[in-house]
Amino acid sequence: MALVSNLPKSKVELHIHLDGAVRPSTIYELAQKKGIDLGVKSADELKQLIYIAVDSPVCLTRFLQKFAIFTPVLIGDQEAVERISYELCEDSARDNIVYSEVRLCPHLLSDTSEGRASKEGMATPREVVVQALRGFERGEKDFNVKMRLILTCMRHKPGRNIIKWSQEILDLCIEFKGQGVVGIDLAGDENMTEVDPTHVQHIAVFQEAAKLGIKRTVHAGENGTSANVLEAMDDMLCDRLGHGYHALDCKDVFGRIVQTQMHLEMCPISSIITGSVTADFEEHALQSMVANKASFSVSTDDPVITGSTLTDEYNFIISKYGLTPQDIMTANLHAAKAAFLPEAEKAALYANLCEEYGMKL
Ligand SMILES: [Zn+2]
Repeated sequence: MALVSNLPKSKVELHIHLDGAVRPSTIYELAQKKGIDLGVKSADELKQLIYIAVDSPVCLTRFLQKFAIFTPVLIGDQEAVERISYELCEDSARDNIVYSEVRLCPHLLSDTSEGRASKEGMATPREVVVQALRGFERGEKDFNVKMRLILTCMRHKPGRNIIKWSQEILDLCIEFKGQGVVGIDLAGDENMTEVDPTHVQHIAVFQEAAKLGIKRTVHAGENGTSANVLEAMDDMLCDRLGHGYHALDCKDVFGRIVQTQMHLEMCPISSIITGSVTADFEEHALQSMVANKASFSVSTDDPVITGSTLTDEYNFIISKYGLTPQDIMTANLHAAKAAFLPEAEKAALYANLCEEYGMKL
């Protein structure tokens, strides 16, 4: 991939999953310590086992299965959650990310659907949130980066009471508002929605979040249709869309996105790898966004699987799809405007980027 020299230095990232951003070396070390057999003989082998190349896309289900390889090492481990959060601060700062909103489904790392530890000593969902925030607090100081948490609800999870999870997640968003948690999210395979009996209840959770002043983002139009995008906007009252590519399939939906400046968190490499969009569709989506002055940003989503940094993502869309460094700066300014920070902090972030880039939106 050709490297572009005049990329913006300071960056904002709005869509990255904590468990999708772990270091293979940390997972391998923890597995060794705990006597968990990952079926590999080194951290590098583990890295290769998790990695999916952008030119060999899979499907979202297979992509999500990669998490099953390494999350058992993290589940219920408070110290590990603090450590991976801290390490993400270091990794983000190394790529000159100045502000990042990191997603986390606390129940997935606590292995409980009941809001309390399933085994003695295992972290509860609340403790997972506390530890993630603790890791960020330590990392922010050491690496001069600002990190905030978005708590993720899951669309489906066989055998788990996920609507209970979502209600507990909303409670955690309220409890930790102003202390590092800035919003709520919904993730998972959109194509399972029709067989998901909790679907309507999730809409209710998001409407309640809106009433309580919790910012909302929804994975929609990733591997699902433009109807899902409409539902996220009209029923779930989202402030931003995770991915949102398939809004492009319907002229009216895309028109509304442009007109209302609904922000799309685009994750170019990950969306190709998950088979949510083809490389050609990705090109069409990004170029349409730029041509129509839509509000979008660029993120890595799950860098442990894609193997990409945010700088890699920028290089990819510039060299492959003809976007310019100017488009990337615009995307970062849009990200600053769409951040879930309090207005004054958002304005300061925006002003700093404007100064560095020598531009305004
Ligand atoms: Zn995502």
